[in-house]
Amino acid sequence: MTDAEPKPKKPALRLEGVRKSYGSVLAVAGVDLVVDEGEFFTLLGPSGSGKTTLLRLIAGFERPDGGRIQLAGRDVTNVPPHLRHTNTVFQDYALFPHMTVADNIGYGLRVKGVSRQVRAKRVERALAMVRLVGLGHRRPNQLSGGQRQRVALARAVVNEPEVLLLDEPLGALDLKLRQEMQIELKQIQKEVGITFVYVTHDQEEALTMSDRLAVMANGEIEQIGSPVEVYERPATEFVAGFIGISNVLLRDGVRFVVRPEKIRMLAEGEQPAAGMTVEPGQVEEVIYVGMSTRYVVRLDRGEQLVTVRQNMDAIGDARRFEGRPVRLAWTPDHTYVLGNGGRKA
Ligand code: ADP
Ligand code: MG
Repeated sequence: MTDAEPKPKKPALRLEGVRKSYGSVLAVAGVDLVVDEGEFFTLLGPSGSGKTTLLRLIAGFERPDGGRIQLAGRDVTNVPPHLRHTNTVFQDYALFPHMTVADNIGYGLRVKGVSRQVRAKRVERALAMVRLVGLGHRRPNQLSGGQRQRVALARAVVNEPEVLLLDEPLGALDLKLRQEMQIELKQIQKEVGITFVYVTHDQEEALTMSDRLAVMANGEIEQIGSPVEVYERPATEFVAGFIGISNVLLRDGVRFVVRPEKIRMLAEGEQPAAGMTVEPGQVEEVIYVGMSTRYVVRLDRGEQLVTVRQNMDAIGDARRFEGRPVRLAWTPDHTYVLGNGGRKA
């Protein structure tokens, strides 16, 4: 093969019919999934949907009741965790409190018998990667939450796993820091090129970071796709409602979704553009969210729709709109018909 040919991507991870129950609870209900090498792949779903169980099955901390798990083309279904080329980063960091940052990061290499010299070099590189140069001598309790999470990440990445598993790693951080870390984590993933399987219940986080994501509910995958695909073309009502505001309308027995930002609230006397669907209704509620304002509108035909407006001008107290009659308009191209997706009838 010459350098000019694109490298064929082989799957880093393949799951086939993976199932796991705890007593009468079906935690993972038959999952099929292929994650490409170098992909940032996210499992997104509400609490209890089976994300952690699925991650633990991939890591080997749990054995499936049925199905197969492959890592880089090798069947690891019955391989113990320490012999799989995975590492896991947890929300609570799980750092060794009595060890320095550098020793925490180098721990896995030491266990593998990597020489002190090589270890020191790789730890130094890992510290640079997570922007913690100069802090290697500290102990975890001398770091901020964000810095501790970076150490946990460095400790996993330094082992160069085939797949890095991350279970709500930013869950303990406050919103602002979490948003900063989302961008940083994504950059680091691009730099090192390691396949990430990332678990979160936060839809915005999933959309921001992922190349592709799987939306989970009740131990099953509802939809797999890119952020744009799952947001713009949700396969099921669950996906539509879980990612963003759902706005489901029923017309002639067909259910479809219109996202809030696609809906225009017409001013009094304003003519809609040609071809737009127009529905009259009444403003039920106005919610100010800083950057934008949300209007909850009850259509005369019965359904409730949410629309959103950027607060480009100072609008004063928009609650004065509550109770007013309005007309909502949207382009039919911006609606998406809900199928039954991957959901079993
Ligand atoms: P998530 O990570 O999406 O919140 P989990 O995988 O932790 O979901 O849990 C999925 C389901 O399995 C839940 O109903 C949970 O209560 C159950 N479950 C998870 N782990 C265990 C366990 N060790 N013993 C019994 N039930 C469990
Ligand atoms: Mg969990």
